[in-house]
Amino acid sequence: MPRYEYRCRACGANFELSRPMADSNAPATCPDGHGDTVKLLSTVAVGTSGASRGPAPAAGGGGGGGCCGGGCCG
Ligand SMILES: [Zn+2]
Repeated sequence: MPRYEYRCRACGANFELSRPMADSNAPATCPDGHGDTVKLLSTVAVGTSGASRGPAPAAGGGGGGGCCGGGCCG
């Protein structure tokens, strides 16, 4: 049974559930009982062929650091 990772928006906890693929989009409940959860991207590799799926999301984000380029980052 595949495992899916979820994040609770109420308390910020990440948790995993093993559930049938048919239920992968069903609401998940946080171990603390919160129902406000979102499903994270599965780490299960899905065979894709051909088209890439648009621009990759920027890692991190929101930073204003300008270190790299100034010669301080090796
Ligand atoms: Zn929670």
